[in-house]
Amino acid sequence: MAVIGGGITGLCAALALSRRGASVAVLEAHTIGWGASSRNGGMVLTGLKIDAATLISRYGLEHARELFKASVDSVDSVDQLVRSEQIDCQFTRRGHLSLASKPAHYIGFERAAELLARDFSHPTRLVPRAGLRAELGSDKYFGGLVDEASGGINPAQYVAGLARTARARGAMLRADARVQRMERQGAGWKLTTARGVIEAAEVLVATSGYTGPATPALRRRLLPIGSYVIATEPLSDELAREISPTGRMMYDSMHFLHYFRLTADQRLLIGGRARFVPENEHTVRASAEELRAGMLKIYPQLRDVRVAYAWGGTLDFAFDTMPHVGRIDGYHFALGYAGHGVALATHLGLAVGEAIGTGALNANPFARLPFRGAPPGLQAGKDWVLPLVAAWYRFLDWVE
Ligand SMILES: Cc1cc2nc3c(=O)[nH]c(=O)nc-3n(C[C@H](O)[C@H](O)[C@H](O)COP(=O)(O)OP(=O)(O)OC[C@H]3O[C@@H](n4cnc5c(N)ncnc54)[C@H](O)[C@@H]3O)c2cc1C
Repeated sequence: MAVIGGGITGLCAALALSRRGASVAVLEAHTIGWGASSRNGGMVLTGLKIDAATLISRYGLEHARELFKASVDSVDSVDQLVRSEQIDCQFTRRGHLSLASKPAHYIGFERAAELLARDFSHPTRLVPRAGLRAELGSDKYFGGLVDEASGGINPAQYVAGLARTARARGAMLRADARVQRMERQGAGWKLTTARGVIEAAEVLVATSGYTGPATPALRRRLLPIGSYVIATEPLSDELAREISPTGRMMYDSMHFLHYFRLTADQRLLIGGRARFVPENEHTVRASAEELRAGMLKIYPQLRDVRVAYAWGGTLDFAFDTMPHVGRIDGYHFALGYAGHGVALATHLGLAVGEAIGTGALNANPFARLPFRGAPPGLQAGKDWVLPLVAAWYRFLDWVE
């Protein structure tokens, strides 16, 4: 069995396959964990990119319930995995706080809280504007919604721990092994990699936002979107307590959102789509300035705090902004997490690894979603698409 991509999805699948006694090779183009899995904000979140009401209107109540439940279960999957494999990655479960950037968005939160309780039996708690100071040291927002089920993690430690665990269970992990070509060979596969040729009975593609020309059917179904992060120098105990007394994961309600949290070593980590396009040295530098400006609008009290680190990575968005798992052109895949991949890549990576060869994946709620390609002309690799998408989201942020 060959797994292409050494991030959370690929490593969790390799772990599950190894537990079943399968012989597994993980082929990673760079170093293991190089992609989004080691560079994310470490937010282990319930829910999906699209809200609960849209889930119901698109897929009907029963299917929407299953999809939402899977998102909540995915946080438990991380929790159980971290405990059972004793992965040292600062995992804590202090919940998340969605923040209303406009008064109308708080009214949306009220409806969402009601719907989540009624239709999904999922408890959340509204925090009106007057009560927000108990949650964060900022007056920028118009209220919030707390979901206690979410958690936070150190992503680099998590992915390193997954790699150690998968290797200990017998998986073979190969860095610098970009898969350049995939060909059918009888009932199996012949993969040409930067390190030589490998034959495999089954292949799982777990390349997420870095999906490339070796798998064109997936590439035209994904939009790779850049996301950027800065982390400050460690804050004093007093300042850390002021900006985030509860230590929750936080994000605002804009399309061009900011997500932020305290790290275990008391830095403020704040990320956003700042530049939208996939990362390079220039976009990381420009995004760091934009993110710092954004940070000071939320927390003016951090004006004398130095930004110590800045980085970027690429997210995987399907055109319906939903995760997808299944089989295409004879190989397996799991991707499209749209900013919720820490939990969902764990959950779906494990699910694929447990199900390959059994047919059990057909029952997975994400496997039953249609996975359509990009509209003509909007396929990945066309550089003019992303600025258009970015302009559309900026317009929505302005009008909504
Ligand atoms: C800046 C940033 C912040 C984020 N914050 C959060 C967050 O707070 N919470 C959350 O839930 N999600 C977040 N995400 C999303 C989350 O990190 C991803 O959804 C998740 O890590 C996807 O994991 P993966 O294993 O599928 O993909 P990745 O970790 O991206 O791994 C894919 C791997 O495939 C390899 N690859 C590609 N092509 C080939 C090939 N041909 N041959 C071999 N290898 C190949 C790449 O080198 C890469 O290492 C964030 C993402 C970014 C970029």
